[in-house]
Amino acid sequence: MCVTGGRQVLVDNTLATPMLLRPLVFGADVVVHSTTKSLGGHSDVTGGVAVANFELTSAIHQSARVWGSVPDPFAAWLTVRGIRTLPLRVDRACENAMAVADFLSTRSDIRHVHYPGIRSHPQHDLARAALGGRFSGMVTFDLADGLHAASAFVRGLEAIKLAPSLGERRTTISHPAKTSHRSLSADERAELGISDGLIRMSCGIESAADIVADIA
Ligand SMILES: *Cc1c(COP(=O)(O)O)cnc(C)c1O
Repeated sequence: MCVTGGRQVLVDNTLATPMLLRPLVFGADVVVHSTTKSLGGHSDVTGGVAVANFELTSAIHQSARVWGSVPDPFAAWLTVRGIRTLPLRVDRACENAMAVADFLSTRSDIRHVHYPGIRSHPQHDLARAALGGRFSGMVTFDLADGLHAASAFVRGLEAIKLAPSLGERRTTISHPAKTSHRSLSADERAELGISDGLIRMSCGIESAADIVADIA
């Protein structure tokens, strides 16, 4: 199936993982994953993978050999170890993210919850069809009181850690305005939809009640 009129389509499937979405089935040419995230799943390995047809993977393999971007054996072992529990971790992370999104949706101090599992999300129906009724472990939300509220929120958490990465077995958060996107101007952040009170949460495999208790 070629739906792209001769152009090649590359999909970064890191957030969905192969448990929720298989882009090759929809006609993508290459799928890439950061295996640092959900595939490795334990924040102890850095890596990536490209998946494609034989012709393309041969070319990718050749350039990886030339440029040296190959994992060492221990990194490969850690990644395979992580993948063995991927289905269980993704199931649990999706359930937890839904519980977090539902909880946050009831709160007046949250301006907006960005999660495709919520009915009011503009692409809810598309996400339901494409991802088979699960919506990933990633939930993003806007604290109504902006930067100060978001910093206080981050400081107030007990079990959930501030971390640049995502997709590990523990729940982690990121506060882009103060971390990954702090070098941009406020206007540039606004253009990307990154408000000062925006928090990105990567749900892990703890009990939903513990996660909700910490953010409450
Ligand atoms: C982290 C991430 C990357 C980069 O992967 P690294 O393993 O950190 O180099 C690429 N795409 C997405 C969606 C990511 O989350």
